[in-house]
Amino acid sequence: MVIAQGVRKSFGRHEVLKGIDLEVNNGEVMCFLGPSGSGKSTFLRCVNRLETIDAGRIRVDGSLVGFKERNGRLYDLTEKELARQRSQIGMVFQRFNLFAHMTALENVMEAPRHVRRQPKREVLDRAQDALARVGLSGHEHKYPAQLSGGQQQRVAIARALAMDPKVMLFDEPTSALDPELVGEVLDVMRGLADSGMTMIVVTHEIEFAKEVGDELVFMDGGLVVEKGDPRQVLENPQQERTRRFLRATA
Ligand code: ADP
Ligand code: MG
Repeated sequence: MVIAQGVRKSFGRHEVLKGIDLEVNNGEVMCFLGPSGSGKSTFLRCVNRLETIDAGRIRVDGSLVGFKERNGRLYDLTEKELARQRSQIGMVFQRFNLFAHMTALENVMEAPRHVRRQPKREVLDRAQDALARVGLSGHEHKYPAQLSGGQQQRVAIARALAMDPKVMLFDEPTSALDPELVGEVLDVMRGLADSGMTMIVVTHEIEFAKEVGDELVFMDGGLVVEKGDPRQVLENPQQERTRRFLRATA
């Protein structure tokens, strides 16, 4: 579902991604772990083309991210085509970025109405379904300020789901939450994984990675240091760098 080949990205002279090769199969959950600054967020942002890459290829469900192929040549996608492609790649950030002046339901309906231009009735039904999937039926008409941090993050997940994405990217989705609210968000993510959603999850939640992840990737300095079965990598890391990181976070 997601294939990255030789992905490189620099900001100025600072090379942040130094050649990333990864594959996520349909329905699999790949978890990312690594120290701050190792390039995890940048990689996710490249997958949904919030950042352009300097070298390599990223494909989502067979389509090149950011380009179209015609007669063996590559052409940049137009802004409109990019918006459409991006809408198939759901992203959930550490900060929920909900519109404060819109209700939960309006937040979830916003993108399908304006990017997809679907009929309002259909958008409404889908938005209600998406809110039900994250356990927020009955909260449709509340504003973000009336919801807990965990509920707001679940609205953000519903907002991505309403676009019927092929893959969901999560960038430390529970890092900004009070500890007692982390579980409800992880439960929703676990449910999504069980329903067969393809997911890439940057997280420091070791237990989640062990239980839900199909593969764990440990990144440092813009490179994949080690990857494999989450239990194997976490309980019996092969690389000294991984061992040092896990010792420091234990
Ligand atoms: P992580 O998510 O693993 O903490 P990031 O991908 O956020 O790491 O950042 C990797 C490196 O890239 C950091 O050194 C960060 O300062 C740098 N970086 C990220 N985004 C930008 C940007 N827009 N401009 C310049 N440097 C950036
Ligand atoms: Mg990050």
